[in-house]
Amino acid sequence: MVAMNDLANTPKPGNETGEERPKRQRKPDWIRVRAPVSEGYNETRRLMRELNLNTVCEEAACPNIGECWTQKHATVMILGDVCTRACAFCNVKTGMPRAVDPMEPENTAIAAAKMGLKHIVITSVDRDDLPDGGASQFVKVIEALRRNTPDTTIEILTPDFRGKMRPAVEAICEAGPDVYNHNLETVPRLYPTIRPGARYYASLRLLEEVKSHNPLIFTKSGIMLGLGEERLEVHQVMDDMRSAEVDFITLGQYLQPTPKHAKVEEFVTPKAFDAFGSIARAKGFLQVASSPLTRSSYHAGDDFAVMRAAREEKLRKKDRLSV
Ligand code: SF4
Repeated sequence: MVAMNDLANTPKPGNETGEERPKRQRKPDWIRVRAPVSEGYNETRRLMRELNLNTVCEEAACPNIGECWTQKHATVMILGDVCTRACAFCNVKTGMPRAVDPMEPENTAIAAAKMGLKHIVITSVDRDDLPDGGASQFVKVIEALRRNTPDTTIEILTPDFRGKMRPAVEAICEAGPDVYNHNLETVPRLYPTIRPGARYYASLRLLEEVKSHNPLIFTKSGIMLGLGEERLEVHQVMDDMRSAEVDFITLGQYLQPTPKHAKVEEFVTPKAFDAFGSIARAKGFLQVASSPLTRSSYHAGDDFAVMRAAREEKLRKKDRLSV
C-alpha cells in the first residue's frame, strides 16, 4: 500500500515544469501513514465534489486525510482554492482567485448536516484582493450553519486579514463561532523566509483582539516544528500565545509538500513533541495537541470537548476559592 506522505509529495499537475526534480527527503517511520482507501473516504470526497466545496485536507495534502475522511471529518476551505499569498510551507495554489461562490455558505451547511457533524472546522485561503479580506463570507457560513445545524459547534481558522484585521475580527466574533483559530505557523525569526507576507506581531494582535471582543470564544493557535526553529524560540512563542490568552496550542511536524517548498530541517521525534506538550501544559493552556501528525483541525471535535470541560473545571475551582 502507498504511504500517504508519498502521495502528498507528488507535485500537482499545475506545478509540472519539466525541470529535474530535487530529491525527496526521507521521512521517519513515525510519520508514514496509509493511503486513503475506505468507503468513508470516498463518500466524503463525493459529497465535497457534489457541493462544489474545497477542503484544506486535499489542497494542503494533509497526511491525515485517510483517517479523517474515513470518519467523515473534513475541513472546508471557503473563498475558493486560490490564495493571494505564497507562503513557503503551503501547498495551496497561489494566484488571482475567482469570484466568491454565493452558494458556499448554504453548501457548507448542507455538508455539515449530511455528514452529521457535531463540530465543524472552516478555514479559507487568503483573500487580500477582497475589501474585507473575506470576513463577510465567514460570517455567512457561520450564520448558515447556525440556521441549518444549530447543534454543530463551529471552529474557524482564519487568515490574518492584513490591513483590515479589526473590522474583520469584529464581524466574525459578532457571528459567534465557538473557537477562533489563527495560526502563528512558526517562530518570529523565520517569518521572512517561511511566511513573508505576514507579520508575527500582527497575528498575535489578532488573537488578542478576539479575546478582547468576546472572552467566551475559545482561541487556538499553532506552529509547525522542523523548520529550523530553536527550542527556546518555541517556548517564547508559547509565552507570547499565553500573553494573548490563547486557550489551545497545536504543535505538529512540518512536511515539505513538494520539493519547491521550504525544506524540512529536522524531523522532531515523538518524544520531543511530548516534552513540548508538557511545557505547554505547564504554561497554562487549557488544551494542548503536540505530536508529529498534529494539524490545526486534527481531532478538533474531541479536543474542543476537552477544552470546554477544562474551562468549566477551572471556573468551578475559581468559584470554590471565592466562597
Ligand atoms: S487533520 Fe484537518 S486538514 Fe488534515 S485531513 Fe484531518 S480535517 Fe483535514
